[in-house]
Amino acid sequence: MPAQRDRSMVTSLPAIVTMLVALTLLVLAVLRWRDNGWGALVWLAAFIAMSAIRTPHSMRNRANVVVEARKDATEILLLVAMFAAMMVLPLIHLATGLFAFADYALPEWATAIGAIAQIPFLWLFWRSHADLGRNWSPGLEVHDAHKLVTNGVYARIRHPMYAAIWISALAQPLLIHNWIAGFLVVPAFAAMWFIRVPDEEALMRQRFGTAWDAYCIRAGRLLPKRAS
Ligand code: SAH
Repeated sequence: MPAQRDRSMVTSLPAIVTMLVALTLLVLAVLRWRDNGWGALVWLAAFIAMSAIRTPHSMRNRANVVVEARKDATEILLLVAMFAAMMVLPLIHLATGLFAFADYALPEWATAIGAIAQIPFLWLFWRSHADLGRNWSPGLEVHDAHKLVTNGVYARIRHPMYAAIWISALAQPLLIHNWIAGFLVVPAFAAMWFIRVPDEEALMRQRFGTAWDAYCIRAGRLLPKRAS
């Protein structure tokens, strides 16, 4: 068998296995929706939409030639914690009821707020991926043709994708009524926000210099700045 085919098999096998496991958990979670409540169904639908928005960008941007990356132990720990709290733990719990001992009760109106929040979340998540385009990456990195994006949803906010994830993280405990599968994402993303954003901004300043500084004057970190 040619060596190249061997290598592609090795790199794609974990991805295929992960996808099959995720799909199985998704089906089981949908089948158990009466145990989990309707909020969990909304969360599952948003999870599928979020994956559909991100996957094409992940596949295309793999071709980027990375010239600088911040991949220390803290960054890896933050990414793993987010992946677990935002995807793995909720899917396992909704599919199996594993963490039922940590369930809590919420009134219907709270679940409804979580459901309505999925609209701004998915819109901002979609638009920030579309506007960032080839410059998006899951880790902190700069590639050879990296461009500073200051248009679209980036015009007034420097971190619209993280703003979207904030909405999603705060809504998750309203949809999944469980301390581990629902609430844990809030401290996980707070840690990511407070630790990663200063590093990301330093990387952008190092790459784009005064253009980045001028952009910071026009655009707020999380909330839009008033037009002057
Ligand atoms: N923090 C941004 C982007 C998250 S994706 C947001 O919340 O919308 C993370 C990657 O985006 C980082 O590796 C960084 O290289 C890149 N990035 C962040 N802001 C950028 C910008 N304004 N223009 C181009 N790339 C940017």
